[in-house]
Amino acid sequence: MLQSRLFAKTSKNFPKDEESINAKYLLRAGFIAKNSAGVFTFLPLGLRVLNKISQIVREEMNALGAEELLMPALIAKSYWEASGRWNVPVVYKIKTDREEYGLGWTHEEVIKIIADQFILSDRDLPQAVYQIQNKFRMEPRARSGLLRGREFLMKDLYSFHKDEGGLGAFYESAKSAYLKIYQRLEMPVVVAEASGGDFTKDFTHEFQALVESGEDTIFHCSKCDYAQNKEVAKVKAGDTCPKNCGGEVKESRAIEVGNIFRLGQRFSSWFMGSYGIGISRIMGTIVEMSHDDRGIIWPEAVAPFRVHLLALGLDKSETVKENAAKLYETLKAKNIEVLFDDRLVPAGEKLFDADLLGIPTRLIVSEKTGIKIELKQRREKDSQLLDVAEVLQCLNS
Ligand SMILES: [Zn+2]
Repeated sequence: MLQSRLFAKTSKNFPKDEESINAKYLLRAGFIAKNSAGVFTFLPLGLRVLNKISQIVREEMNALGAEELLMPALIAKSYWEASGRWNVPVVYKIKTDREEYGLGWTHEEVIKIIADQFILSDRDLPQAVYQIQNKFRMEPRARSGLLRGREFLMKDLYSFHKDEGGLGAFYESAKSAYLKIYQRLEMPVVVAEASGGDFTKDFTHEFQALVESGEDTIFHCSKCDYAQNKEVAKVKAGDTCPKNCGGEVKESRAIEVGNIFRLGQRFSSWFMGSYGIGISRIMGTIVEMSHDDRGIIWPEAVAPFRVHLLALGLDKSETVKENAAKLYETLKAKNIEVLFDDRLVPAGEKLFDADLLGIPTRLIVSEKTGIKIELKQRREKDSQLLDVAEVLQCLNS
């Protein structure tokens, strides 16, 4: 991709009412555009990241044995009335001359009705289906960029079992699948017990990414996997671990990036589980966790491009122009995703934008590098001067 041809551009300005790091950097770097509070457009660069996160989630859901489907966002009032959730405060309601709808903020009601058509007896169980879809929730405070959207992308999985034991076993497999997803995203998480909110009276599990800017507070052990959300915790910071592992309870701020619920028979006559992951929230969380004072630092698995090729002094040197163009073609031929900064702008501006965009590997071709190429990882301080073969070797390892 040629940077000069990108639909969106970097900018030095961003809306004053967006205070979070993720909103500031994603808006300035041209990954997202703001439409209204908690409502964003994913621009081409941002959509590349979002799609990569979705694909990782999709692969792990398929590996779990779940099938993908797509339910509507427009859900008739009768569905919500049947479950007693029409008057939940987060529902966006739409009224026409004839009908009333609620925009989907979750899909237990819809999947239950559909499952009734296909699950006719215990012999049809167990089943698990998921979707990746925009959800709508009326958030009173939507000022945290992608962390708390009014419209946001989510993966929701629903499972059906004939008994509690079947649900319990699947629940544990889903938990493992989730942990694999966060591992692939290079996102360390703590699995915390939490309250079921509107869904269930049982404990649920939240996957919490430890980030200073997080809205949640969790108490977790310094040594073992004990962790609870503040809402349900019966410990405080400094206590000895209730699991008697010898560790100490610590208090941390965190962002909830996934949750799993054993719904039991709350919605259907079968034993049902519900499992969510906020895809767009994960994108915001990655930025909150992985940035410096110059911009974003994307993990390789979700970066919009693997390589950012910068040609410095393009307008002054034919050699730079030729070498950079040749390298660009070589990388493309090797199927390496590359963004080529071919813009006729000062070197300082290119370097500034490269740090802001946060693509993992930067390659510089300039008069100074001559026939060599300067390679620098976004996370590292030092760079290396290499020839083309060494660059390719570096990218393959
Ligand atoms: Zn412990």
